[in-house]
Amino acid sequence: MVHSKVVIIGSGPAAHTAAIYLSRAELKPVMYEGMLAGGTAAGGQLTTTTDIENFPGFPDGIGGSELMENMRKQSTRFGTEIITETITRVDFSKRPFRLWKEWSDGPDEEPAHTADAVIIATGANARRLDLPGEEKYWQNGISACAVCDGAVPIFRNKPLFVIGGGDSAAEEAMFLTKYGSHVTVLVRKDKLRASKAMAKRLLANPKVTVRFNTVATQVLGEEIPRGLMTHLKVKNVVTGEEETLDANGLFYAVGHDPATTLVKGQIELDSEGYIVTQPGTSYTSVPGVFAAGDVQDKRYRQAITSAGSGCIAALEAEKFLAEEEAGEDESPAVKTEVGHSRIEPAVAEPDAQSAQKKKGNEPATAEYKQNPLL
Ligand SMILES: Cc1cc2nc3c(=O)[nH]c(=O)nc-3n(C[C@H](O)[C@H](O)[C@H](O)COP(=O)(O)OP(=O)(O)OC[C@H]3O[C@@H](n4cnc5c(N)ncnc54)[C@H](O)[C@@H]3O)c2cc1C
Repeated sequence: MVHSKVVIIGSGPAAHTAAIYLSRAELKPVMYEGMLAGGTAAGGQLTTTTDIENFPGFPDGIGGSELMENMRKQSTRFGTEIITETITRVDFSKRPFRLWKEWSDGPDEEPAHTADAVIIATGANARRLDLPGEEKYWQNGISACAVCDGAVPIFRNKPLFVIGGGDSAAEEAMFLTKYGSHVTVLVRKDKLRASKAMAKRLLANPKVTVRFNTVATQVLGEEIPRGLMTHLKVKNVVTGEEETLDANGLFYAVGHDPATTLVKGQIELDSEGYIVTQPGTSYTSVPGVFAAGDVQDKRYRQAITSAGSGCIAALEAEKFLAEEEAGEDESPAVKTEVGHSRIEPAVAEPDAQSAQKKKGNEPATAEYKQNPLL
């Protein structure tokens, strides 16, 4: 059994950003990057896509896998140890926290790792519908993220479809009207689940048609390698009538599944299974356990927001470990639903900034100490 100050579970932008900050702070983080965890390669969701055009620093875009390979290199450059295994069991009920790997997670098995702090960055997976043709045209017309993919040339001035009846579907459809010639929203039921205001805006948009009681049944397209989708078969579930419609884009907005089976019952989750963090922080219901990325963010779900939250988690973990080492306990604990206590973010002293300025000539301090908010 190995002990580390901090273990990161996950391997997307959140995990790697946390790893870069923690390794630069000389905390020797260990990252379990997963071995096809949840069916996704190490590196996370971006390894399943082609060009990323909205991650700053790459004016010509960058391939998803290449971006993740770069992040991985940057993590190891500063000393992160990366283990290509999946964590399948954790025990956060006492310190040090205990973690078990896949295939050695039986009830009598010793944990593979113990840690003083853990960052969970296991991400989320967009739900799919398993339609005939889906696998073939995934990322060649089919996408689960309008914000990520909507602007690519294959969708410009073309008929686009969105599947879903909630707020996300409405938001995605309205976003896509900037690019497509027309956007059709397929709703299985006879009404939208979206909020009233959102539904009203959607129905009033002249570039949007909402087809109620309608489901997609098959995706059709070019029969060549990497061919694009061109048509969508739809069915009215009330009349049984089927149609084949021109369609160059199909966007799923049928929800995401956060990868939280691992921590269920150990930390507080919301009704949809996302890890609950205190707003603006990575603090979970268990002191010493931090969460970053899509696993705790059901709203933005972007590479850059995940990376940003990974940075927050690293700085907060660094602060937590430093305070523990110094025997400090500055942060008040609050009882939560799952019976654990959690840490309130420290409130900046009013004169903290001026105090920092006065310290201008002192030797380098830990990053968290330079930030008056932490
Ligand atoms: C097809 C597609 C295209 C996208 N395009 C863009 C885009 O253009 N721009 C953009 O900003 N965003 C895009 N996104 C969204 C972006 O990929 C996510 O917001 C981002 O990857 C989330 O990062 P994350 O760090 O939370 O974790 P994820 O990327 O979800 O990665 C987490 C990874 O951790 C590993 N893991 C999970 N569980 C365990 C475990 N128990 N043990 C060990 N390892 C584990 C797995 O490999 C998992 O995939 C896209 C998403 C998809 C699916």
